Amino acid sequence: MKKTTQAIHLPYKRRDAYDALSMPVYHAVAFEFDNAQLMADAFCGRIDAPDYSRVENPTVTNFEERVKAITGAQDVVAFNSGMAAISNVLLALAAKDKYILTSRHLFGNTYSLITSTLKRFGVGARLCDLTNLKAVEEAIDTECCCLYLEIMTNPQLEVTDIPAVAAVAHRKGVPVIADTTLIPFTEFSARDLGIDAEVVSSTKYISGGATSLGGLVIDYSTCDRLHHPLRHEMLFNLGAYMTPQAAYQQTVGLEVLDARYKVQAANALCLAKRLQQLPSIRRVNYVGLPDNPYHELSKRQFGPTAGAMLTIDLDSQEACFRFIDRLKLIHRATNLFDNRTLAIHPASTIFGLFSAEERSQMDILDTTIRLSVGLEDVDDLFNDIQQALL
Ligand SMILES: *Cc1c(COP(=O)(O)O)cnc(C)c1O
Repeated sequence: MKKTTQAIHLPYKRRDAYDALSMPVYHAVAFEFDNAQLMADAFCGRIDAPDYSRVENPTVTNFEERVKAITGAQDVVAFNSGMAAISNVLLALAAKDKYILTSRHLFGNTYSLITSTLKRFGVGARLCDLTNLKAVEEAIDTECCCLYLEIMTNPQLEVTDIPAVAAVAHRKGVPVIADTTLIPFTEFSARDLGIDAEVVSSTKYISGGATSLGGLVIDYSTCDRLHHPLRHEMLFNLGAYMTPQAAYQQTVGLEVLDARYKVQAANALCLAKRLQQLPSIRRVNYVGLPDNPYHELSKRQFGPTAGAMLTIDLDSQEACFRFIDRLKLIHRATNLFDNRTLAIHPASTIFGLFSAEERSQMDILDTTIRLSVGLEDVDDLFNDIQQALL
């Protein structure tokens, strides 16, 4: 059976009392045991039974198991947001006087987590151009606790040669952690690219039309230092586990992920091609366009689709604001991979609290608008963009 079929038909660990076809939402904090010995065995991990929903809950476990079936990972841990997944995995690997090697091209909150929050606890950050193998090699020494990258950066849409970078990191014993939010794991194998653990904001493609926040750490157990502290220390001590309600919604989303994604990615490609014809758009950045510098590399690593996020550049920030204000169908909102198409001006919003100098170092331009393409008819989207440009 194909992975997507498996994920839909995965049997529940225990038969439901009423044979419910979809996983019931176990809104329970604690679970009872028949005797003291079973309770001791469950608490000490000798038997697999939930005891307390901060660390294990049947509905959340079922969601994790389905992601495991699709990815072939050794373990999957669900968190209550993408940032919770990212911070838990970095806290599991980092320590005082160690440093994280990463790029300036990062999701804004991840950048700030690494360069400000973790810095206060003595964790260093080394920022380098991850598309330059020599720079990566030179940036790794014995104090490097992990290499952290985004498979397709948001919003620059830069793609790193992951097997090449992973080979350099692994030669020096450094695990590779990758944020794979922009291309769903139904499309490619992160493990085959040399990624030791994936982090995903499941708020995006997986939740099923922006129903709930969530994050996943998909652990291939290729790094000994990660598995134990993540599940047995971070999950317990930081308390950022996914809630049963979110796990239910995200499981439903996961069942239709592949179908939604294929339409959204096709829409994005079709729209990008048509937008290239409009003279008032200075640049259309979409990895799926054959003339994009990362097109071939992306195809090799992630397969034929290139996600549903693209950016367009207009003449000035004023032109961007005017365009956004004139949109009638496309929504003025952040978030990615909602069923609806969304538009945002990243420089003044997601990156609005960074200094102009920091924005420039991160290649965040005042002229860029980010579009997350939804499930609408492409003609309607194109017409809305065309009228907003007038
Ligand atoms: C949205 C996003 C995050 C953060 O996820 P939340 O679920 O909002 O916490 C991290 N990385 C990328 C690439 C994102 O797009």
